[in-house]
Amino acid sequence: MLNPVTPAFEARLRDVLPDHAIRQAAPRYLEEPRGRYAGQVGLMVSPTDVGQVSALVAACNDARVGVLPYGGGTGLVGGQISEASPAPVLLSMERMAAIRAVFPEENVLIAESGAILADVQAAADRAGRLFPLSLASEGSARIGGNLATNAGGTGVLRYGNARDLCLGLEAVLPDGRIWNGLTRLRKDNTGYDLRNLLIGSEGTLGIITAATLKLSAIPAVTGTGLFVVASPKAALSLLSMARDALGEGISAFELIHRQGFDFLAETLPQVRRPFDQPPEWSVLIDVGLPRGLDAQGALAGLFEMAMQEGLVDDGLIAQSQAQSDEFWAVREHIPEANRLIGSVSSHDISVPLGALAEFITRGEEAIAAIGEFRINCFGHVGDGNLHFNVFPMPGRNRQDHAEDRPRIKAAVHDLVHELGGSISAEHGIGRLKVADLERYGDPVKLAAMRAIKDALDPNGIMNPGAVLRAS
Ligand SMILES: Cc1cc2nc3c(=O)[nH]c(=O)nc-3n(C[C@H](O)[C@H](O)[C@H](O)COP(=O)(O)OP(=O)(O)OC[C@H]3O[C@@H](n4cnc5c(N)ncnc54)[C@H](O)[C@@H]3O)c2cc1C
Repeated sequence: MLNPVTPAFEARLRDVLPDHAIRQAAPRYLEEPRGRYAGQVGLMVSPTDVGQVSALVAACNDARVGVLPYGGGTGLVGGQISEASPAPVLLSMERMAAIRAVFPEENVLIAESGAILADVQAAADRAGRLFPLSLASEGSARIGGNLATNAGGTGVLRYGNARDLCLGLEAVLPDGRIWNGLTRLRKDNTGYDLRNLLIGSEGTLGIITAATLKLSAIPAVTGTGLFVVASPKAALSLLSMARDALGEGISAFELIHRQGFDFLAETLPQVRRPFDQPPEWSVLIDVGLPRGLDAQGALAGLFEMAMQEGLVDDGLIAQSQAQSDEFWAVREHIPEANRLIGSVSSHDISVPLGALAEFITRGEEAIAAIGEFRINCFGHVGDGNLHFNVFPMPGRNRQDHAEDRPRIKAAVHDLVHELGGSISAEHGIGRLKVADLERYGDPVKLAAMRAIKDALDPNGIMNPGAVLRAS
């Protein structure tokens, strides 16, 4: 059983932390991007070094007070928001945002966990390197949050997700001890991999305070194409063709449905839409190739081959960086357009590539059987990861469909499960999907997760109620 923050506990914290570290939480720390939760916090703490994080966590553990780790607050599953009582201490990492070191010749960068993702990308770029994790939320999301959620985004196809981009971690365990695992090694088979346990644990096993990150070479030439495809199945055949032709040169491959363009027209008309008539299905392709190759020529050759196979029937190849940015602006503004429309139910799912077209067809049928809705299906199709989001028809709003939401979610997740997929491809479990994890998760895996949680955090102070039900 956890305890609330009392004046006596706050006084004890003031003994071990500087005054400036303890603050009142402004309203923005209690909100989340989709407005689904209203947060409660007993106190907010913003440490400036790992010693302060350690002192805070140790004090919370002694007093059995919950700790809620907070990065950029862009998580989409309520992991950074607690509505439960007693309200936990919100631990914001925003003042630990330094880039500690860059080793360009090793392709390594060490950042504190409060560094904003875009700042990590910029630091890598200044060193002539690429940090390829890329999300529409990169201007706010912090690297600790990215690792805690094992974030994906548009570069996974080529570079992997956050887990694949991390060599080592510094972290504070639930009893306050500091684990120094900030290794720069690429090979280290010395027992259990604590780094991989903490990555994706959503703040339930410890606080990530710094990370060693893997960098890559910046592709010498890049190009962007927006191709109209006949169907999602044709999009996957195009991906296979593109990989045969260009190998690892395919940096991103994103599926966009007409609904995405329509929502942009409705909510964000200032975002330029490249087609006069929005295509039913299109894919946004990025290629990045070594010096001496011609990215636009490669895309043109791919388009021609795909045309001959009947996979594409129209397309645009960016003629400048500005035009490439314009194509990407469409993709990157779709989440904001979705937010402005207001989904009835959003699903971040993955299925094996071979089952993806079937998922879309059967998913649309299952939703139509429940009622009249608009579906915006888009995402990282090359990873088998789709955002299959269900919206009200014009003139209605999400509250009108509150009773439909559980049926919609169950219909989509049952289908994903049947097809061997995942009910959370990249956003995590947070508080939103705890019941789904219990319903669809493998029981042996769930029991092992519970045993790990109880072993590392016997008092259950770390992000109580996220991922696993508070015990
Ligand atoms: C417009 C938009 C687009 C997005 N696109 C993508 C996408 O393409 N791919 C994707 O994967 N996600 C996406 N997201 C979701 C979100 O941006 C990611 O989950 C991101 O990794 C969260 O980082 P954050 O710093 O905001 O974490 P927060 O939201 O602050 O926290 C997320 C979780 O991590 C925990 N946490 C945070 N920091 C730490 C830490 N230092 N140590 C331990 N635990 C911690 C929190 O307790 C919480 O459980 C998107 C979100 C938005 C709003």
